[in-house]
Amino acid sequence: MPVADYETYCRMLDNAKENHFAYAAINVTSLAAANAVLRGLAESKSDGILQVSTGGAAFASGSTVNDMALGAISIAEHVRRAAERYGIYVALHTDHCQSKLLDGFVIPLIEETERRRAAGQPNLFNSHMFDGSELPLQQNLAKSKALLERCHRSELILEIETGVVGGEEDGVSAEGVPAEKLYTTAADMLAVAETLNSVKGARYLLAATFGNVHGVYKPGAVKLKPTILKEGQEAVEKAYGKDARLYLVFHGGSGSGVDEIHETLDYGVVKMNVDTDTQYAFTRPIADHMLKNYDGVLKVDGDVGSKKTYDPRAYLRLAEASMAEQVKRVVKKLRGEGTTLCKR
Ligand SMILES: [Zn+2]
Repeated sequence: MPVADYETYCRMLDNAKENHFAYAAINVTSLAAANAVLRGLAESKSDGILQVSTGGAAFASGSTVNDMALGAISIAEHVRRAAERYGIYVALHTDHCQSKLLDGFVIPLIEETERRRAAGQPNLFNSHMFDGSELPLQQNLAKSKALLERCHRSELILEIETGVVGGEEDGVSAEGVPAEKLYTTAADMLAVAETLNSVKGARYLLAATFGNVHGVYKPGAVKLKPTILKEGQEAVEKAYGKDARLYLVFHGGSGSGVDEIHETLDYGVVKMNVDTDTQYAFTRPIADHMLKNYDGVLKVDGDVGSKKTYDPRAYLRLAEASMAEQVKRVVKKLRGEGTTLCKR
């Protein structure tokens, strides 16, 4: 059962929280990328999370079909089958979904889970993210709570977001956001705990912003303030006890220093989203292959080219290996090596 069930996923998250490491949550948009993640995690002996964004899922469904829910289901079905061959657990998650996209993405995916459960089948996904960070906090939390109640009935974990992460991801840009909005406050984290802990027994994750930026940025361009997470957790602990400390998610961590990352792990980050660096790792050897084999991949001047070099397997194999290596580097940075709970 290498795609974790609910109980195993909860144990994974507890294990990370107790032992101050985090799971790499890596975005995938194709079977080749999904296989790269499974390979990288397995070679690290680490469990992990595969996630699909709205844009990635639409892409995976086929450019003319363009159905986000269908693409997500199709990648998840592949991972469920392929993961059986690797000795680690993975969880399946869907990334950022703003209010306006809920009806085309998260809701049909929850309905799919509800259908499966009614038929006695296991869940397809383990968790979903609702990103209400563009809404006023109270509205965001009201919506998050309603979704959490529904998710909880089907043993799904919900991830939510407060504050605004700078940068651009999947065409959603937070340019022009005032600097103070890039930081969650202790009061925000307290409000999250107060609202969502009222859904008894439900599990959720919080992406709280502390100066993070989606996509790439040059070193020094953004001031990360991980102590914001520390202050928020202390406020939550003071109000609701030690067990109420939140399970945090680090978004937009590309380019962050290892010391900053480790600091956030000590404050309760259990999941770190990874996309940009693994995208680059996938593409890098393809660029190399094309440039080195220019007259093989192309039919130059009426020549026939070289089937061996333009067969997509030739370069996708290199891409898979390179992305798997990047996954291993990320897992190491997150102190995840050798932490798998899978005993086989
Ligand atoms: Zn985010």
